[in-house]
Amino acid sequence: MKLWRTPFDHNHSAEPLAYVFIDRERCKGCGFCAEYCPRDVLKMGSELSSKGYQLAVVKDGSKCLACGFCELICPEFAVKLTINNKAHSEIKP
Ligand code: SF4
Ligand code: SF4
Repeated sequence: MKLWRTPFDHNHSAEPLAYVFIDRERCKGCGFCAEYCPRDVLKMGSELSSKGYQLAVVKDGSKCLACGFCELICPEFAVKLTINNKAHSEIKP
């Protein structure tokens, strides 16, 4: 798609700063990650895990700040962040 202007934060938002992975076997559906993500990246989905828990899902990974809070707050160690080093190196001070 051709943009009629280049957004000022184009380099910041071209790629997510991190990729979020939810381990479906570990998630117990507590909702902490979805509730406290400052960018509304995660939400509780409608799908149930094999153990019957409502699973957290990634709603919009492009908004992730790579703050790591979801990884920290998950009591089941079900969230794994992979930092996108390429996107970080493109951020201009
Ligand atoms: S790293 Fe931060 S912004 Fe990204 S999904 Fe987790 S809590 Fe949200
Ligand atoms: S905090 Fe962990 S266990 Fe709770 S919903 Fe999120 S991924 Fe699942």
